[in-house]
Parts: sequence; C-alpha cells; structure tokens
Amino acid sequence: MRGLRASAVVLSLTITTFLAASPSAPAAAGAPPEPEVTSLVTISVPDTATLEKVVATGADLTERVRPQPDGSIQVDAVLSEGQLAALAPLGVEKAGAPAAQETPKTPKAAAADQIVIERAVWFRTRDGYFLSVEATSSAGPTATLSAAWRGRGGASGTVPMVPYTDAGAYLGHQLSTPAPVADRPSWVTVTSAGGGTAQARVKEWPDGERPDRTIPGYRKDFITQYMPPGQLNERVKALHRQFPRLTDVIALPYLTNGYRRHAQAQFGAVVVTSLAYGSEGGNDLAMELVDPGAQGRPLQVTVNGKLITVSLATDASGAITSTAAQVIAAVNAGAGSLVKATPYRTDNGQGVVAPAPLTQLSDFLKAPADVSREPARVLALRIGAHRDGSRTGVLAYAQEHAREWVTPLVTIETAERLLRNYARDPATRRLLQRTDIFIVPTVNPDGANYSFYDYNFQRKNMTNHCPAAQADPAARNSWGVDVNRNYAVGSLFDGYVGASANCLSGTYAGPGEHSEPESRNVIWLARTYRNIKFAMNVHSYGGYFMWPPGAYQAAGRVTLPRPTKAQEAYFLRSARTIEEAIAAERGTVTWPQQTGPVTDVLYSAAGNSADELWYDFGIFGWDFEVGNDIWNPATRTWEGVGFQPPFEEGHKEALEYASGLIAMIGLAADYRAP
Ligand SMILES: [Zn+2]
Repeated sequence: MRGLRASAVVLSLTITTFLAASPSAPAAAGAPPEPEVTSLVTISVPDTATLEKVVATGADLTERVRPQPDGSIQVDAVLSEGQLAALAPLGVEKAGAPAAQETPKTPKAAAADQIVIERAVWFRTRDGYFLSVEATSSAGPTATLSAAWRGRGGASGTVPMVPYTDAGAYLGHQLSTPAPVADRPSWVTVTSAGGGTAQARVKEWPDGERPDRTIPGYRKDFITQYMPPGQLNERVKALHRQFPRLTDVIALPYLTNGYRRHAQAQFGAVVVTSLAYGSEGGNDLAMELVDPGAQGRPLQVTVNGKLITVSLATDASGAITSTAAQVIAAVNAGAGSLVKATPYRTDNGQGVVAPAPLTQLSDFLKAPADVSREPARVLALRIGAHRDGSRTGVLAYAQEHAREWVTPLVTIETAERLLRNYARDPATRRLLQRTDIFIVPTVNPDGANYSFYDYNFQRKNMTNHCPAAQADPAARNSWGVDVNRNYAVGSLFDGYVGASANCLSGTYAGPGEHSEPESRNVIWLARTYRNIKFAMNVHSYGGYFMWPPGAYQAAGRVTLPRPTKAQEAYFLRSARTIEEAIAAERGTVTWPQQTGPVTDVLYSAAGNSADELWYDFGIFGWDFEVGNDIWNPATRTWEGVGFQPPFEEGHKEALEYASGLIAMIGLAADYRAP
C-alpha cells in the first residue's frame, strides 16, 4: 500500500468462480482427478465495457487484444469449454471469421466536426507497406471517419476508421488494423461524414535514431532451443565463469516456494492431502477404503507405516453407512499426523462413500528427477566494466509469466552478445563502460518448470493459496499467484482494475502485496541498486511496447498519474529507437497502436511491476510483449504467434528483441539525469 494509495475500494464486481460453475463430478474412486482441458482461443467481446468486465472475472487473457471494425474486440485467452460458457452471458463468444469492413451508419452532425490527425505513419514489414492513422473528431465516437491516402508512386485508396474507446472514454479513431497498401503512402486526408476534414503528411514509423552501429563480424545468435530454468541458471553461471571481470552473479535473497506440491488423492467426495510435500514423503503414502464384509462394523482408521486403511461402517444388513463427513472426521482423527482430509469443493459430506482400492497419493508433478523440488534461488547476471553503482543501471527481467518461453531467451541472447562482442566491437565496449546491467532470465522458475513439464499454459507461480474447497487435485492447474499482479502500486488492494481476488483466477493478485518471493526479488534489485534507471519487463506475446500508467481504478477510469509531457515524449522517442532496432532484424514492426501506456494500448493490469518501478523508484519501466502478429496474405488477417511458437519462430523473436534490449541499453548509456 505504499506509494500511490487510492481509496481502498473493494471491487464489487461479480467474480465468476470458474470451478464452482463447472459441472464436473468428483473423480471416480481410484482414478486420478484430471484438470479441465484448456486451450488458447480467440474470443470476441462486444465492446470495451464488456472487456473490462471480462478482465474483472479474472479470466486468463493473453496480452493480445485487437479492436475490430464493428467496435468489438478480439482477445486471445486460455480457457476451458466450461470457462468459455461461463463468459457467454456477457456476450463473449469464440471469434469466427474477421468481421467485414463495414462503415457504421451515424446521423450527420449539424455543424462540421473538427478533425485532428494525431498520428499518420507508414511502415514497411517483410510483408509490404502498411498505413496507420489515428485521428480524433470533436463529435466523439459516433463520428464516421475515413482515411484517404495517396502514395509516392501515384497509387491511392480509402480505408474506414473505427472509434476506439476504453472504459467509456473516447480515445480517437484509428484503422482497425494497419492496412496493407500498394505503395508507400505520402499524404493522408481524414474525412468525417459530419463534414470535418484534415490532412497530414505520412511519416515513417518508427522514426527514431538508428541504434548503435556494430562492426562487421559482430557476433550473435547464441540460442539453440527453449530453455527451462535449470538451463538458464547454468548459462548464467557459465557466462560468469568465462567473463569474471565483466560479470557478477547475484543470488536474489528470496527463495521461491519450489517446484513441489503436497500429495493428494480423491475418494469420491473425500479429498486427502499429505502434510509433507510429495517429494518429502507425501508421494509414498497410500490409502484404501475397505468394505469390512461383515454386519454392524464401526468406522475405523488404521495406519501401518505409509498405508492408511479406512474400514467403513456397516449396518445390520452389512450395507456401508459411512458418509463422506464421517470418513473425513475419522481420517483426520486417526491419520492426522500424515494427511488432512477435506470435502470435495461444495459437497455437503452427507453421501455414503464407496469402497476404493489402495490408492497412492501423488503430487502429480511430472518433471524428471533432476529438476529440483527444493525452493529455488533466482539469479541475476550483472554485466558491466564498472559494477560499482557509478554507471546508469539497466534491469531486464523476464518470465514473470511462466508460459512465456521466448522471454528468457531474449535476455540470454542479450547477455551473450554484450559479453562476446566486448573485446571486438567498440559500440558494445562503450555500452559496458557506461552502463551497469542486471539481467534476470527467469523471475518465476517454479511456474516455468510447471509450464515445461506439467501444464504448458501455466501463467502464475506454483504457490497454492486456495482454501480446501478449491484445492482438490483437479484444480491444480489453476493455483498460483500472477507475479505481475502482486506488486504494491496501483494494486487490487488499492482498488485498481485488472487483478483478481479469486485464488483460481489467471490474474490472482495473491493474499497481499508482495506476498510472493518472485515479486520481492524484483523490488529488492530496485531498492538495492539505486543506480538502476531503466527497466524492461519482458513478456509475450502480441507485439507491444508499453510504459506506465498500467492501471486505473474501477470508478471513473482514474489512472495512476500520467507521466509529464516531457517524460511521455522521452518514453515515445525511446520506444521508437528501440522499435527501430527490433525492425532492423527481420522487418518486424511494432504497430503505433501498440506503442504507448499500458492502460491505453492493452488493458488495466493492477499491481504490475513496471508501475512500481516507475512510481516508487523513478525507473523508466517498460514492458515488451515480444512475438508480433504474422500477416497471413491468404486470409488477409494478422495472426497471433502464441506463447510457445515453433522454435524457429521463437528463435527469431529472441534475436530481434535482444536487439531491442541492447538499444535500450544504448539509451541508458546516453542518459543524463535531468
Ligand atoms: Zn506476460
């Protein structure tokens, strides 16, 4: 609650408790309870107000949000069929074919409206020329605007524009997506059906300074595969061994909870959870529910070493009479030093339980034995010729979200390039002379292991804060805290939008600010190394480049304070320099619509790290969303790349965004505090 404290509004939004809504029955006795199957789907949301409601449900949205010509919004999300159905009452459905470009009909305004062209840019990608135009009308979102462009070679065309509103606030009109055009556009005229018109020259995007030039023979491309946390740590240590004069390894102080879970088994409406972690003996336990095969027997629990036997009660006819509630009480009384028994979800415990064969408890973790089950140490690699706090510090940290496999590769590729080119490339030498770089390839190693070995869509860390009613084994893919909602500025607890209090939600904020070691480690770096002035929070996917504010309050969409005009200009100018470096690799362009404050270009993300770095530490806190859409000329649509694209694509993303990160280090090298 430090920093910008807002009124402590408790969000009164309806939280859809997905699991409670799920109709799935308890697992059959003996069968391992399986989580609902989820998939990456593109959903269509009717409007921005509804999108805000969807965010408030805590649904597991990705970071790819695309406004459509009809005012609807398409968002990629990780959902089960049941979760998708739970969103249907809001008007959410699976996106079909892209809506036809249709100009909305609106009544003509009496007097001509005033049009201001905020931005008109062209850019060239590997797929050709694209035009992007943003303009505002004094008539607001109901105005009907179109953009007519003229190319250098004489070609021309007209593209409809769509209003863009966020939480009811009109932000202007834009092309629904940057439009592919036949020629390099030079002039654009925006015309309103209300009579207003404006003209502007179309500039090249991004139009920043060229990134630092490197010599021929500059070495790059040090990534050969996706890397789980163990390999990332090995690479960090290997780089330090090879470049001891240019690096330090910093062991961050807060150990994670570890890639580990308590062992569980489910017997109808009875859930049994080991007190010890699975890896510390819980997995060795086994339990059976036995029909005594005799009349008038009492309910009895016996423990023999690691074996728990529940002999069920029978009546005078020999029929079993023990209810789930009775079994739970008996197990807790008779085997309470080994396990805790609880009812399944909202079950009332009144049903009679069935006998069940001997069932081994399991933590259900599938990583090979050489993946440590102990609390994990998070490592930072500090790089620089003068690591004494006298140089401008740059922090690059990745994989707050476990499933974003490309993001650690961006940081490793960056570290490799800086170190292996230091001796040969003057531009690199200059960077290491003038800056002090802190690289954290994986903030969330436990979640990352879970994503690699158990559930590839894992977003959060692995710490289960759920009460027993939400902690049955089939819920295990939904546990954990969204590390990037666990910070202390503009948080859920301060009344900001875009994090959930539901422990099963994709955006669960945790039981309190900084409750998680993963977030405390990031802030520890900022607090300990006060020379850090720049930070890049590396995420995927969607192709964004963003900065604060990253959150607003529910009431009135009051954002965290906007940067000053001068700061905003610096953010934007720097963004263009960095985007230029990214584009230099293979023509990947970060669209202007996806360059800006988080709240403007994505959605509100309460309690994210970049906001805390900026507002509490004065660090220029940026977010990358690596993995730009790919243009499909056959369908004439942009397609998202996903969290774990084929390595061939992930590899290219790592290379281009490493160039972006190095461009940011270049900005830091030139930075002079005002
Ligand atoms: Zn992310």
